[in-house]
Amino acid sequence: MARYTEAVCRLCRREGTKLYLKSDRCYSDKCSISKRQYAPGQHGQGQQRKKVSEYGLQLREKQKARRIYGILERQFHNYFVEAERQKGITGENLLSLLERRLDNVIYRLGFASSRAEARQLVRHGHIKVKGRKVNIPSYLVRVGDEISVKDTSKSSPKFKENAEAAAHKTPPAWLEAVVENFTGRVVALPQREDIDVAIQEHLIVELYSR
Ligand code: SF4
Repeated sequence: MARYTEAVCRLCRREGTKLYLKSDRCYSDKCSISKRQYAPGQHGQGQQRKKVSEYGLQLREKQKARRIYGILERQFHNYFVEAERQKGITGENLLSLLERRLDNVIYRLGFASSRAEARQLVRHGHIKVKGRKVNIPSYLVRVGDEISVKDTSKSSPKFKENAEAAAHKTPPAWLEAVVENFTGRVVALPQREDIDVAIQEHLIVELYSR
């Protein structure tokens, strides 16, 4: 599947906010956005003085969400169509769908240090859902799903390192994690208050409703 391969810190600088696309670096003083608070590129420093239109604000919010979850345009639009079809508030449905992606769940459970790493772990066949290997990062988890790491992968240094880091984190209320065993369970569908991403989802809905 196609994916974004440029230096990810540029994306944060483009959006003017931390998107937390890397792991520990995002929480350290090595974070690029702390050092250079302007958009990347030749005209980056001038861009921050421009007044942004309503359309521009809506577009940037959509791009931010896309980049946080690492999703390309067409797939993101498909999520919006599905969110609109569901009952309830479209913007909240959209975020809930994005959160339920298997790569995001692996990140939220603490089995990976970033969504990008989680995506790679899923693609490489390290992850099981209800005891069966699933290598599709966009797989949508459901309530009751048991998520686990393949037995032969558990002893890898990468998983051990992630487990140590995850011991200091608390998963969101809709997930249960036993990090020492690399297992997790979906106990509820994610609600807006469970999703700690700084996205104004109503702007995305307004953009697609134009
Ligand atoms: Fe964004 Fe993380 Fe890079 Fe900082 S270190 S600019 S938060 S990806």
